[in-house]
Amino acid sequence: MEKIVYLDNAATTEPCDECRAAVVRGLECFGNPSSLHRLGVDAELLVEEAREQIAESLGCESGQVVFTSGATESSNTAIFGAYKSQGKRKKRIITTTVEHPATARPIDELERLGCEVVRIGPDENGEFRAEDFISEVNEDTFLVSMMMVNNEVGAILPVGKVFSAIRRKFPKGGPLLHCDCVQGYMKLPVRAAALGADLISLSGHKICGPKGVGALYIRKGLHLPALMLGGGQEKNRRSGTENVPLICGFGAAVKALEGTVPQRLEKARELESYLLEKCRENGGIVPNYAGEKSPYVVSLSVEKLKSEVLLHYLEKRGIYVSSGSACSKGKKSGVLNEFRIPKQRADTTLRISFGPKTAKEDIDALISAIADAEQELAKLG
Ligand code: PLP
Repeated sequence: MEKIVYLDNAATTEPCDECRAAVVRGLECFGNPSSLHRLGVDAELLVEEAREQIAESLGCESGQVVFTSGATESSNTAIFGAYKSQGKRKKRIITTTVEHPATARPIDELERLGCEVVRIGPDENGEFRAEDFISEVNEDTFLVSMMMVNNEVGAILPVGKVFSAIRRKFPKGGPLLHCDCVQGYMKLPVRAAALGADLISLSGHKICGPKGVGALYIRKGLHLPALMLGGGQEKNRRSGTENVPLICGFGAAVKALEGTVPQRLEKARELESYLLEKCRENGGIVPNYAGEKSPYVVSLSVEKLKSEVLLHYLEKRGIYVSSGSACSKGKKSGVLNEFRIPKQRADTTLRISFGPKTAKEDIDALISAIADAEQELAKLG
């Protein structure tokens, strides 16, 4: 493969070697995990090994991990499950204005079905205040859903603080607490108990695992009605024959990254500082978000150049970045606006996101290509 500079790891990541090998093992072990014979049992053992790996990374029991087709399904299961279990008695949902569509769209759907939705936005500095959430939660609230790290600017939301305050406010019978941890998992320390969530959404392909697989953590003792009904797999919590190869790849990717979260976080911080320093030197590249954030995602504006024009210019040089969030593909998501990023800056935004292999040379290549683009494209007027 030609040498590429891949700086779009918030969209997806390159599968690691451990993942690739495990996917092949899962393909070769082709039995149905529900079959009673040896081939079935072998496949089931592989699925259970992966479940253990993910449980260990979250500090929970393996029985609390349900495999899904990705974080979109995990969040849909959490949100519609909460509605099915409590939505007859209670009507209110608290969420944020900056959720990924995997959370925002199912909540919009519940609003159409008659739920009252309160969407909390950041303050004038683009930061979320825990009190804004806590004061909105009342006896009628059945779900609080907030993401850990925003996928467009990297903002870290005060999830642990909000969830623990809600538990104190409602020691019994409070709302279900759901967190989309997709952009935090394997990057920041994520422990289920410390987060205090009932439900956590995870995705395989953001952490060097395969696409099309994810997990939903369900707190012990919580009965959540299933979204997928059928053969009763995953202890009736997600029917459908388990995707053994992808589950194996997901588990192997987690195992490969698990012990190095602090070291990689430190490296991401160094990369972020290096990138910001290079932006200052250039003068025409301005960072978009200065609040508390994950160093893995950096949103920048290259003042003179429209995002898409620059994205394709960089692509021709083998440098891959995003113009915002990959999921919104051409559609403006409105999230940058929520973070008080003016429209003109939003139109010139690039999202740079780091992965385990990102090096300072990748940033040098990016900055020098942007400088060339500023010169060349400015001449074209
Ligand atoms: N949540 C966040 C914050 C994301 O960034 C993404 C993917 O872009 C998702 C959810 C959806 O994950 P998946 O692609 O596994 O459905």
